[in-house]
This record gives sequence, C-alpha cells and structure tokens, in this order.
Amino acid sequence: MHRIAFLGPPGAGKGTQAARLSVELGVPHLSTGEILRHAAGEGTALGQAADRFMREGRLVPDELVLQLLDARLRLPDAASGFVLDGYPRNRAQAEALDRITPLDHVVFFELPEDWLLERLTQRWSCPTCGRVYNLVTLPPRIAGHCDDDGTPLHQRSDDRPEAVKTRLRTYSEQTTPLLAHYQERNLLRSLDAKGSVEEVGRRLRSALEGNRGSSGSSERQRTAAR
Ligand code: ADP
Ligand code: AMP
Repeated sequence: MHRIAFLGPPGAGKGTQAARLSVELGVPHLSTGEILRHAAGEGTALGQAADRFMREGRLVPDELVLQLLDARLRLPDAASGFVLDGYPRNRAQAEALDRITPLDHVVFFELPEDWLLERLTQRWSCPTCGRVYNLVTLPPRIAGHCDDDGTPLHQRSDDRPEAVKTRLRTYSEQTTPLLAHYQERNLLRSLDAKGSVEEVGRRLRSALEGNRGSSGSSERQRTAAR
C-alpha cells in the first residue's frame, strides 16, 4: 500500500513532489491546504471559517480540517493509498490520523530557512488547476500564465511576508514535534529537499524504496527528531 504522508516546512517542495509521486503511484494527492483553499473559494461555511486563519498564516482549527480530510479519505480513490501533503501539523492531528488510517511512510522534507523564503516569495500558482510555479526556478512558458490552461497565475495571500513569518513559526512550534512521533513508530525518512525537482524526486523514490526506518540517513533522522 502507498499510504504516504509528507512533513516539512512551508515552501520545502512537498506539493510539487506530491503531485508527481501521486501520478507515478496512481494514488490521489491529498493536500489539506488545497482542500481548504477550495472550500474557501466555494464560500462554504467551513471554507469561510477557515479563510481568515489561512490568510494570517495560522493553523485552521483541528476539528474543521479533520472533517474535510476524513470525508476526502472516504472517497473510493483513496482506498488503495494516497500522498498526504500538509497533514498532520500538530500532535492532536497526528493522533486523529492514527485513529483514521495507518501510514506506510512519512517523509520529512529538510530545507534551510533561507531556501524556504526564496522558494515561497517566488511561488505563483494557477487558480484553475492548482499547478504551482516558481518565478525563478520553475517559471511558466508564457510569463504570468499557466502552461496547462492559460489562466493568469496568482500569488497566494499567505505567501506575503507577514503570513510567511507566522507560518514558519507555527511549523517550528507545532509541527516539528511530530518528527519524534513518527520516528518512534519507525516510519520516518528524511529527505534532502535541495536541488532540482528531478533530483529531489529521485531521492524521494529511493527513500520510499529503502527498508523501513533505514533509508541511509538515520543520523540525520535522529538529529531532525530532536
Ligand atoms: P510546499 O508544498 O512544501 O509548501 P511547493 O511544492 O509549493 O512547497 O514549493 C514551493 C516553491 O518552490 C514553489 O514555487 C515551487 O515551484 C518551488 N519548488 C518546488 N520544488 C523545487 C525544487 N526542487 N527546486 C526549485 N524550486 C522548487
Ligand atoms: P499549505 O497549502 O499546506 O501551505 O497550507 C496553507 C494553509 O492552510 C496553512 O497555513 C493553514 O492555514 C491551512 N492548513 C493546511 N493544512 C492544515 C492542517 N493540517 N491543519 C491546520 N491548518 C492547515
């Protein structure tokens, strides 16, 4: 089974790799950020409630995210696996996920903060299909427009500097303790997220193919979980 969760700071490249890996494995890419942005765009009651937390770069309340994720995981396409990107983000969410489904792998994307800031401030995406670009590292073929459907690209409101600061702080306070949670369960693999999308993708595949708990970077895993 391919029940995979990606952990790591905002801007590390989780969504980019999840989109590719899910196609390779034939399982859905479940991004709680995308699910929430979609709900906010639709103007549902849940979406409206989530929207102000997202704009400020704060975590959306656990109950609300869980309700959306649980419904998504129940759809038939997730029965044979998924790439979960952006969940869990705190201890309560990890415990809730443990109750809903087992995981086969948890991959921790490692990237220093100055790299994260560079990637986040240049991120633009397509509001129609969700495809993510980077003005410096992965620009669209025609400036400002999606390669796939031509829609004008936009910048996420939470990629502006104030929200980015809050998101990075939230990540380090609430999400990094989860590394220990998954290391204790022998599920955690660390991934060096520097380098091109192809290089990171190759490392990701070899981390997933490695034996559980021994992907050749155990020292980094121990350090990361501290
Ligand atoms: P996350 O989902 O972890 O927040 P994204 O996948 O959205 O991160 O990537 C953040 C930004 O960095 C985007 O602009 C994306 O196009 C770009 N990016 C992703 N992976 C790489 C990479 N390996 N090299 C350079 N830029 C990348
Ligand atoms: P992302 O697309 O993963 O960068 O998430 C964007 C924003 O959506 C976050 O800053 C949060 O406000 C919200 N969000 C996404 N996933 C979660 C989650 N698991 N728990 C709480 N909030 C979330």
